Amino acid sequence: QLQFFANPVTDEDVNAGVLCLVLDITEKYNREKLRREFTANVSHELKTPLTSISGYAELIESGMARDEDIKGFAGKIHNESSRLLELINDIIKLSELDEGVPSGEPEEINLLELARDCARSLEKYAQDKRVTIQAEGEELTISGNRRMMHELVYNLAENAIRYNKKDGTVRIKIGRENGKTFILVADTGIGIPAEYQNRIFERFFRVDKSRSKATGGTGLGLSIVKHIAGAHKATLECKSEVGQGTSIKVLFP
Ligand code: ADP
Repeated sequence: QLQFFANPVTDEDVNAGVLCLVLDITEKYNREKLRREFTANVSHELKTPLTSISGYAELIESGMARDEDIKGFAGKIHNESSRLLELINDIIKLSELDEGVPSGEPEEINLLELARDCARSLEKYAQDKRVTIQAEGEELTISGNRRMMHELVYNLAENAIRYNKKDGTVRIKIGRENGKTFILVADTGIGIPAEYQNRIFERFFRVDKSRSKATGGTGLGLSIVKHIAGAHKATLECKSEVGQGTSIKVLFP
């Protein structure tokens, strides 16, 4: 994208001419395009649960709902509100990350300890899904923001449980390869088709849109992961085989 400016030069001492400035605004154009798409997606994602909440509330208010149905409708309103809250929290997190890395001194983070913490907090969710989760590996540290790093590992591990199969496993491993420290989150789940593997980090991208309501999730988890990795100068590698499982590796410089 090019932006073109032309201003007549009107200094009396020199011959009049035209000053021409051509700027490449591709990056700005793309940023604005992404922002517009994001706003459209957010509006849509907020509207869906709200429409459903408002519909059930209206039904109860009208007195047309049978007594035995009211509890079920209240449950639906509760679920949709939780979904909405989760979404709003993720949008806030993303907009905070858009502002840049939080200020403050980077901390020394023990990755194995952090991985064990995440596994512990997800234990109940894993049990409900009949999945086992474990954290293992070397005692390695990196320098960074602990809260953000917790969010990164938590989001990856939560997906690894969410997209797993019954009696599946999730392994969070901390290690080193080619002089680089890594966090690996590997699962034995449904996998991601090759053509989508580089799209999963986009905001609101979901492989199976129709399943998202049943499986939960906001469609923003991995874009938050990508942001946090970027803020720590880490790269992400995704390997996945449909029906076999997925592993996502975060490699620190
Ligand atoms: P969501 O909230 O939908 O999980 P994410 O941004 O976390 O959103 O992930 C984007 C999409 O990538 C998911 O909807 C899912 O289709 C796919 N995905 C992410 N992690 C995995 C995984 N471990 N196994 C299979 N598919 C995954």
